[in-house]
Amino acid sequence: MLDNLTNRLSRVVKTLRGQARLTEENTQEMLREVRLALLEADVALPVVREFVARVKEKALGEEVISSLTPGQALVGIVHKELTALMGGDLGLEAGELSLAAQPPAVILMAGLQGAGKTTTTGKLARWLSEGSHTQHGRKTGKKKVLVVSADVYRPAAIEQLKTVAGQVGVDFLPSDASQKPETIATQALDHAKRHHYDVLIVDTAGRLGVDEAMMREIRALHDLLSPIETLFVVDAMQGQDAVNVARAFSEALPLTGVVMTKLDGDARGGAALSVRHVTGKPLKFVGVSEKLDGLQPFHPDRMAQRVLG
Ligand code: GDP
Repeated sequence: MLDNLTNRLSRVVKTLRGQARLTEENTQEMLREVRLALLEADVALPVVREFVARVKEKALGEEVISSLTPGQALVGIVHKELTALMGGDLGLEAGELSLAAQPPAVILMAGLQGAGKTTTTGKLARWLSEGSHTQHGRKTGKKKVLVVSADVYRPAAIEQLKTVAGQVGVDFLPSDASQKPETIATQALDHAKRHHYDVLIVDTAGRLGVDEAMMREIRALHDLLSPIETLFVVDAMQGQDAVNVARAFSEALPLTGVVMTKLDGDARGGAALSVRHVTGKPLKFVGVSEKLDGLQPFHPDRMAQRVLG
């Protein structure tokens, strides 16, 4: 049965109550519970190991040892470290996208098929065109957004983006499955420049698994487009597998951020911790619904709370 970290921790806190000091033994017991709970929340094993080592180091430090309530102090450390690992230490504003390019600012969407790229392209387009995002603490104006699909392998993909663009009321540049993805990208960039778009979002093909041809292709698109944001879209439900996919993408591409989708499902969100760890890049948004308004800026503390359960 799934037992969450909060339950596990509160049990340990109870057993620690009345014990004036943290000992090597009761600290180990606590860390064992943390480790199990994180694995159950789908955090990848290497990430769990490093996390536990960090918590242990802090726990054996002065602060906790001298604390009157060592159990509570440990819980505090776990929460703080989780938040930090989620990117709470980056000092980034939630949902901040870097768009300070000579327009058009290009956003390249990367990820496996089914991760939610096309849906997220629509959500981001909506977010930007409505001007509902903040940039360095202030609301920025509505952006003129163009979307294009460079997915020439799945015949329905281009149609899907067209539908999504229509639903959110942004411009869609038609492309054709007979074209090369590079040609589509070049034409889209040219069109966006000529028609003074602020932002061009390029949706790309995904495969069911990571493959070399796909990585070569998206790298070529990256070289052509020089995107200011290269966002890796990953499905929270992927759990432990997310870590390998994230590694492959971050090795192939200079990612600037991550969007984690399907957090409205019952995923515990541990994948967020793994993906953040492997890519070293901030999670910028989370997808919380199939609907096109289901996009939220990523808040490290909220995600830490979700993993804690
Ligand atoms: P793509 O192949 O990466 O372009 O993925 P799609 O955008 O087509 O999404 C795949 C499926 O996931 C679709 O059925 C979407 O409606 C669904 N989806 C995408 N994002 C979310 C999300 O945040 N929550 C939920 N529940 N479903 C989502």
